Amino acid sequence: MRIPADTGAELPRQLRERLSAILGARGVVEGDCSRYHESWGGSFTAPGGFVVRPGSTAEVAGTLAACAEARVAVVPQGGNTGLAGGAQPTRRGAVIVSLERMRALRAIDPVNDTITVEAGMTLAELQARAAEVDRLFPLSLASEGSCQIGGNLSTNAGGTQCLRYGNARAMALGLEVVLPDGQVWDGLRGLRKDATGYDLKQLFIGAEGTLGIITAAVLRLLPRPRDAATAFAAVPDPEAALRLLDHARRHLGESLTAFELMRHECLAWALVALGGTSPFAACHPWYVLIEATGQSAPGTLALPMEESMAAAIAEGIVSDATLAASETQRRRLWAMREGQAEAQKAAGPGIKHDVSVPVSAVPDFLARADAALAAAFPMIRPFAFGHLGDGNIHYNPLGPAGSTPAEVARLRPQVNRIVHDIVVDLGGSISAEHGLGQLRTHEIQRYKAPVERAMMAALKATFDPKGLMNPGKIVPD
Ligand SMILES: Cc1cc2nc3c(=O)[nH]c(=O)nc-3n(C[C@H](O)[C@H](O)[C@H](O)COP(=O)(O)OP(=O)(O)OC[C@H]3O[C@@H](n4cnc5c(N)ncnc54)[C@H](O)[C@@H]3O)c2cc1C
Repeated sequence: MRIPADTGAELPRQLRERLSAILGARGVVEGDCSRYHESWGGSFTAPGGFVVRPGSTAEVAGTLAACAEARVAVVPQGGNTGLAGGAQPTRRGAVIVSLERMRALRAIDPVNDTITVEAGMTLAELQARAAEVDRLFPLSLASEGSCQIGGNLSTNAGGTQCLRYGNARAMALGLEVVLPDGQVWDGLRGLRKDATGYDLKQLFIGAEGTLGIITAAVLRLLPRPRDAATAFAAVPDPEAALRLLDHARRHLGESLTAFELMRHECLAWALVALGGTSPFAACHPWYVLIEATGQSAPGTLALPMEESMAAAIAEGIVSDATLAASETQRRRLWAMREGQAEAQKAAGPGIKHDVSVPVSAVPDFLARADAALAAAFPMIRPFAFGHLGDGNIHYNPLGPAGSTPAEVARLRPQVNRIVHDIVVDLGGSISAEHGLGQLRTHEIQRYKAPVERAMMAALKATFDPKGLMNPGKIVPD
């Protein structure tokens, strides 16, 4: 759907004039706003939205104060790579606040192992800034060239190294936030210990912009690994993958950094989408990408990884395994995992689920969901990959071969119900790392207890009594 360029017409004239005065010409987007209105991949399109690009915390504060007075909704937007439609308004007449101009490095302290950055810095730039002082910022996502740290914190992003370093929440020490009425909270403390009452920053992490706008953050830095060993293993089923996880933990200990599971179909479609050949001569039902990293001299981890794989083959856990012998080979193995978005596009329309269950329940989840879908929709094609080490599976079955997006969309409500009921029955979550956005806010109401929904609504009402911050996300309006 094309969006009319003159979206400002949706706003009261006085507010438009006030925003122009606060933000100046660079801060107001004139003309084509489609790149802000459409989400990554075009899954969500806003019905309009006046786009502003503040250049400072004071300008964000002025924008929010003006919108609050005019009772106009505000939707924060980072790199717009979110997969739940959180950064798109659901109704006309909203102001989209893009953080893309707020990308400054405010401070870096290698002794305190902290970096203070503005919310609009991309994740890739943040990683590069940390590397300049020989430190690691360990959050790593396939979207890191575009997504912003403010968006990562607001979705509590996970990623491929979560197994070792935790998700975005684990990396945040302090935040600066603009509240819905325009007040600024300076919580930029680089402290590991602070026992002075409620840990307010935690409320804004994972809040998807519904309680305020994160404008800056103090983040933890870690020692930069000097050594990495990467293996790609073929396993007969998810049970074997789980045994391999336990085996790898015992052999590789703390150095185990990534443990990624994928079905044979995911590898096959990645090869179609990206080119290249399979690491194995034969086909296997499931694969695991394993990586260990550490401070040892380069090449040191190769031996324990090799011994670990040899032992797993000898014990009958692994059918075959290959080890990356160079950085180029390592990148090739990772491309098959990181190319899963392209693989899915090549495979055809599907129905995405970003779910988590206790790690021990992953095989049970996959078996139950596969069986239930096969019984209800025999032509549906399995497609599943994810972070097995975190119990987070991207369970994305594909529509019958040759089906159109509209045909697959008609199956979505029933498929979601089947998959999510099983997830919740196993004690899991229907959104592990993508958030609720407009995709799952209504669906989650079925799965959260009334007391949990009431606590969330009370928090929302406290911070945003006028209901203007990203309305309709997390707490239904
Ligand atoms: C190819 C690909 C791979 C991906 N892989 C992963 C993965 O491995 N793990 C994972 O967790 N996610 C993944 N994602 C999803 C996405 O990249 C993450 O959710 C990311 O954290 C979103 O950041 P963003 O800056 O693009 O935020 P946006 O998409 O712009 O916004 C996401 C939400 O955060 C809010 N928001 C954004 N910035 C702010 C701010 N400064 N203050 C307050 N609210 C704000 C928005 O309103 C919205 O609700 C992937 C996406 C793609 C396209």
